[in-house]
Amino acid sequence: GSRLEMLASLIRDVPDFPQPGVVFKDITPLLASAKGFQASIDELVASAPADIDVVVGMEARGFIFAAPVALALGAGFVPVRKPGKLPGDVVSQGFDLEYGSTELNMHRDAIVSGARVLVVDDVLATGGTIGATARLLEQLGAELVHVSVLMELEFLGGRARLESLGIRNCSAVL
Ligand code: 5GP
Repeated sequence: GSRLEMLASLIRDVPDFPQPGVVFKDITPLLASAKGFQASIDELVASAPADIDVVVGMEARGFIFAAPVALALGAGFVPVRKPGKLPGDVVSQGFDLEYGSTELNMHRDAIVSGARVLVVDDVLATGGTIGATARLLEQLGAELVHVSVLMELEFLGGRARLESLGIRNCSAVL
């Protein structure tokens, strides 16, 4: 519909960022638009299943979308962070990125075993970030019920990578 066209028009293609050959999807024009930001949150909320206990968002752009979605769903928010940022006892998961490799952390006591979790991020690219987050949730015994992203870069095959990890409940707004 026209709402999705409006959202798509607010995402800017930046060639050769952060390195030559990559076309980066810049979401900052969408965030700067009151209508665009609200519509993006509304769409992510609409994609969520019922009875979510916790919304998990990944540093840094994931936070921007996951936190408002958590409030709208009446759920808690739990951050996934880069190493050295969380003060408590953490679980850790390494993974390969589209550009390099890294590690993600989550507080070990952040989510009770059996909680129903929604993962929210801005962009699904190779699926490395969401895959690592799924492994963190497994370590905590949480139930990954659904993954909702604003945009999926289909040519990078992230969905297949997630399916190979047993993650089939994934939806993209754009
Ligand atoms: P993946 O792990 O799926 O390869 O990459 C997804 C992560 O990298 C997301 O957390 C996302 O924020 C970031 N990312 C990768 N490519 C892009 C892009 O083109 N635009 C934006 N906004 N983020 C990207």
